[in-house]
Amino acid sequence: MRQNILIPYIKEELIPFFYQKLEKLGFVEAGYNKALDITACPGTDTCNLGIASSTGIAEELERLIKAEYPQYISNPDVVIKISGCMNACGQHNMANIGFQGMSIRTKDKLVAPALQVLLGGGNDGNGNGRFADKVVKIPSKRGPEALRLILNDFETNGKGKPFADYYAEKGEHYFYDFLKPLTDIEDLTQEDFIDWGTIEKYKKEIGIGECAGVVIDLIATLLLESQEKIQNAQETFNEGKWAASIYHSYSSMVNSAKALLTAEKTKVNTHSSIIKDFDEKFVAAGRIAIAGGFEDLVLQLNKNEPTEDFTKSYLEDAKALLQKVESFRKMELAEV
Ligand code: SF4
Repeated sequence: MRQNILIPYIKEELIPFFYQKLEKLGFVEAGYNKALDITACPGTDTCNLGIASSTGIAEELERLIKAEYPQYISNPDVVIKISGCMNACGQHNMANIGFQGMSIRTKDKLVAPALQVLLGGGNDGNGNGRFADKVVKIPSKRGPEALRLILNDFETNGKGKPFADYYAEKGEHYFYDFLKPLTDIEDLTQEDFIDWGTIEKYKKEIGIGECAGVVIDLIATLLLESQEKIQNAQETFNEGKWAASIYHSYSSMVNSAKALLTAEKTKVNTHSSIIKDFDEKFVAAGRIAIAGGFEDLVLQLNKNEPTEDFTKSYLEDAKALLQKVESFRKMELAEV
């Protein structure tokens, strides 16, 4: 799971010999299986599906940890993983701190490499695990600063706890608040348009992939995400956290719409374009029935107080929408 290689059956008396050989290859540096040991997929180095560099940013983050946080060279409680795209070959969504390669388009239509920052995932080691939450999307060149902010806060507010417990206590919004300033793309510099590990200007180029990622059904994955968001909405509702539940229901509805639009190869860059296009292509076209339209349904949250009654009915709306979208998708696939 951390891209290790196990060499078994070495005779005990030969271990020093093996150690010396591995040392010559540079494989005995401190930090094995610790925070410093960052997992990264090949990303844009060799994978045609890679959107942004994963090995380049991994090297930079390892440099940062060695220079600024040497205590993490021997800390096994923070697991950092990076993938060059959503296919997650680097298992970034199962890490305490994960980064996923993306791109960002400025209002002048310039494209910069970006990273989605995910937090709170992990493998408990007892058969249980947790998917990380997608917290913010930032220009790739701000990846080191994001890690600094997270580790500084962990040092101050999570001292002595495993990272997973610290994250669970604080919750996604807490991290969103202090990472949000990094998402501002109004002041990008020329450097922001050059990805880690290269000196050339960034160009988003995606082709046919050579790894397991190519067999993943993107639409099914998006619909699974919608189900997860509904589960989160139900759990937070059960805990009496109305605002959080409304947020998850909203995300589920937009994500369900995004799934069908993606299947039609419609661009899904912003929430407002997803809402508008879904209304136009599915509701107005009579393909999915939503009384009053999708925009009114999804944006009810702007017109209502986060009461228990509203939270409950909004969650029911999100569930009903997902059911309609899933049935539509099944019908479409059956017709193919
Ligand atoms: S398909 Fe896999 S190996 Fe290729 S960039 Fe995406 S996550 Fe990395």
